[in-house]
Amino acid sequence: MSNFPKTFLDQMQELFEVEELKAFFSSLETVSPVSLRYNPYKKTEMPTELEPVPWASRAFYLKERPNFTADPLIHAGAYYVQEASSMFLEQALKQHGKLERQLRVLDLCAAPGGKSTLISALLNEKSLLLSNEVIKSRAHILAENIQKWGQDNVWVSQNDPLEIGKVLPAFFDIIVVDAPCSGEGMFRKAEHSIGEWSLQAVQHCALRQQRILHDIWKALRPGGILIYSTCTYNVSENEKNLLKFKEDCDFKSLKIMCPKEWKITETNQDDLYAYRFYPHKSKGEGFFLSVLQKAGESAVITPRVKKTNLNKAAKETEQLKNWCSDPDKYQLCQKNETIKVVPLHLWQEAQVLESLLNIVYGGAELAELNRKGFSPLPAAALWTGLNQGAFTCADLELETALTYLRQDNLPIDKAEQNDGWQLIRYKGLGLGWIKKLQNRVNNYFPKEWRIRMSMDKLKQ
Ligand code: SAM
Repeated sequence: MSNFPKTFLDQMQELFEVEELKAFFSSLETVSPVSLRYNPYKKTEMPTELEPVPWASRAFYLKERPNFTADPLIHAGAYYVQEASSMFLEQALKQHGKLERQLRVLDLCAAPGGKSTLISALLNEKSLLLSNEVIKSRAHILAENIQKWGQDNVWVSQNDPLEIGKVLPAFFDIIVVDAPCSGEGMFRKAEHSIGEWSLQAVQHCALRQQRILHDIWKALRPGGILIYSTCTYNVSENEKNLLKFKEDCDFKSLKIMCPKEWKITETNQDDLYAYRFYPHKSKGEGFFLSVLQKAGESAVITPRVKKTNLNKAAKETEQLKNWCSDPDKYQLCQKNETIKVVPLHLWQEAQVLESLLNIVYGGAELAELNRKGFSPLPAAALWTGLNQGAFTCADLELETALTYLRQDNLPIDKAEQNDGWQLIRYKGLGLGWIKKLQNRVNNYFPKEWRIRMSMDKLKQ
């Protein structure tokens, strides 16, 4: 307990009685549970013997932490390693999101992509997800994880919440704000966050959260819901902050039904329902979530755009339609040198997003135009709508797949015989591309995504 700042200890005393306080702090001495969530769009065998996460679908606890990097399936987007408590977002969406409708959802603070991949798994194919991350380097990691997840109804942007609020008024039905916070709930999992904690940091976070909420509120349609979450216990970043926000913005707080055995703490102060996860009660880290429904009722608004940088693709690229399992569902289009597909029913939304925001990724990017024609892009290999039958596929075993993912030279006999582009697969899932030449194989796995761990360590 001595590691924790005194002010933090004092603050926790206000939340718990003596005995419970002891239980809370001793839970922080235990090992963090490890959990993951399977991708419903990528066929893989899900374990049957593992303990399920009670409030989430296709999600399980592992008995210990494996070396995830050494499993090609994680690189293929077959599953996402995610802290269990934060998967509670699923309940908020299922109980209040009206998921059967065609929805526009914004995940505002999205990197590295845990909540976005969860949202994407729950949305129907007519819906759209915009995953935004304000910090550039983190937006790229987010885009990588979104590409691996493999859906074509997701766009990734790198914008400040204020810009999104300004250009997209009442555009979204649902906004998720998984706010940057003081991270008290992560003290067990990420010990370094203890050293970064201070009362000033908490105040700074609370102010920033207020700003984010005010800035993005305009982008939510009346009647739409904003799901606010943090990984901190601090009331000034949670309940108090939302009640302060209510002084300026009109909303109703929505209740989430939780079976008793989940051991989630429901609070209700001044008609604000909120849900708290504590590590001594539920199997996961500290987490806070509350659902706010904006007063009023109206449909979403789609702004008009005069100029767009997303054009219908040139005739020469029509043959790329053959790369789609269901070509009639898509508009083939071009943005700079990139050829991509956008679901037909999202064409108008895509134009709006691509014109008004700083889009890092969106739709399904298939190929890049070059002097010789075009080359397939990494995202195409990972896309769930790819017609694998249009390609020569090279199926690799574990060790060769790791060699490929390290971007090392692939032995020529591991490729199929014919020269040209080949799709690399592991257990039937696409990983990336190679180009087979007469006497060598060029590895096109992206440099920024490659495994940096040595082969010896990977094999341990
Ligand atoms: N939702 C993510 C997930 O589930 O993987 C985790 C998000 S993390 C708790 C908060 C994110 O907010 C960080 O990626 C951080 O870079 C971003 N952020 C920091 N300052 C921000 C700001 N002023 N506005 C919006 N987002 C911000």
